[in-house]
Amino acid sequence: IFQDIELAPPDAIFSLTARYKDDRSPQKVNLGVGAYRDDSGKPWVLPVVRKAEKIISSDPTLDHEYLPILGLKSFRDASAKLILGSNNRVIKEKRVVTAQTISGTGANHLGAIFLSKFYQQKVFLVSKPTWANHKPIFDTVGFDVREYIYYNPKTLGLDIDGLLNSLKSAPNGSIVLLHACAHNPTGVDPNHEQWKAIADVMEAKGHFPFFDCAYQGFASGDIDRDAWSIRYFVDRGFELLVCQSYAKNFGLYGQRAGCLTIVLRNSETATKVESQVAKLQRAEISNPPLHGARIVNLILNDPMLYAEWIDNLQIMSSRIKEMRKRLFEKLVELGTPGNWNHIVDQIGMFSYTGLNASQAQVLQEKYHVYLTSNGRVSMAGLTTSNVEYFAKAIDDVVRT
Ligand code: PMP
Repeated sequence: IFQDIELAPPDAIFSLTARYKDDRSPQKVNLGVGAYRDDSGKPWVLPVVRKAEKIISSDPTLDHEYLPILGLKSFRDASAKLILGSNNRVIKEKRVVTAQTISGTGANHLGAIFLSKFYQQKVFLVSKPTWANHKPIFDTVGFDVREYIYYNPKTLGLDIDGLLNSLKSAPNGSIVLLHACAHNPTGVDPNHEQWKAIADVMEAKGHFPFFDCAYQGFASGDIDRDAWSIRYFVDRGFELLVCQSYAKNFGLYGQRAGCLTIVLRNSETATKVESQVAKLQRAEISNPPLHGARIVNLILNDPMLYAEWIDNLQIMSSRIKEMRKRLFEKLVELGTPGNWNHIVDQIGMFSYTGLNASQAQVLQEKYHVYLTSNGRVSMAGLTTSNVEYFAKAIDDVVRT
C-alpha cells in the first residue's frame, strides 16, 4: 500500500549531531546542538532541579496517576504568572486559559490546531529565518505558511523596515509568529521601540500575535526582561497566545514540560475556549506527562527554590555571554576580516555568524567543528578550552 511513499529527508540538526558523534577527532566541537552545555562541554542538570527531584522522590503521597486533561493545575497557574507577570490584570480578570503541553513544540502544535479550528484566517506568517520546526508544525495543520522579512544579511541585524512592510502587505488578520526573546536561529531581537512599531502595525492590520517563548530567563538571566514583548502586547489589549517551553530554562529537555496560554477578551470567552482546548488535547494526547511538570511546579511555587532557580539561570546565561565575549575578543585580536560586533550584540544561545554554507562545510571537514549550513552556532557548545580553536578556525575559513 505504501510503496510509493517518498523517502523523507533526515532532520538537519539531528543528523549533524550524528555526524559529530561519529567523528573520532579529539578536537571536535559540536556547535549544532540546541541544548546548554557546561564549561566542560557536558549536559548540566540544574542543582535546583536535582533538589526538587529528591523532594519529589521522597514524598510518599505522590503517585503516578494520570494528570487531568489540561495538566497539573498549580503548574499551569504558576506558568501563566511566570510569563504574564503575577499581577497581570488579565489573570485577575480570569481572561487566561493555560494548558500544559508537550514542551514548546506541543504548545506550538496545540495553539496551531486551536487556531485552525476557531480562527478565520489561514495565512500564518513566520520570520525569515525561523526555528526549523515552525513551518512543518503549521503546515501540518493546514495553514498557508508565509515568511516575513526579519534578518538583514548585510547588517547581520534586524531589518525593521522590511519586517514592518511585510506585516503591512500581509492579508488583514494574519497570524504572526513572534519569538518573544532570543530569536532562533539569528539571536537578533527587536528593541522596545521596534516592538512598539510591530504592535502598531499588527493592531492596524488586525493580525493575531502567536508568541513562542522557549528561552525565558535563559536568554538574559532576567525573567521579566525576557517576557517584556509578550506583556507589552497584553497591556495593549491584544488577544493572543503564548507557547512556553521549560526545556532550556530548567534544563528539562527530555521531560517535555511546557504550556500554551491564551489571553482572551473576557472571562466568558475564556471558559468556552478552555473547554475547546481540553477537547483538542484529549484527542491528541489525553493528558500531559507528569514528572517534568511536577519539578517545575515545585520550584515555581517555593520562594527558596525559585530564588535558587534564578541563580542557576544566571549561571547559564552568563556563561553564554562570556563565550560570546571571548569569541569576539579573539576574532578582533586575530584581525579576522569583517565586523564581528554581532557576536556580542546578539542574545541567547544561538548566533548567526554570517558564515556561509561552504565555510560551514570547511569548518566541519578541516576542523571537526559542526554547525548548521546557515552559519548558526550554538554558543553553548563553546568552552574556555575550545573557543580559541574555534576563533582560529573561523579566521582561516574567512581568509581562504
Ligand atoms: N520554539 C523555539 C523557537 C525553539 O527554539 C524551541 C527549542 N529549540 C522550541 C520552540 C521548542 O522546544 P521544545 O519542544 O524542546 O520545548
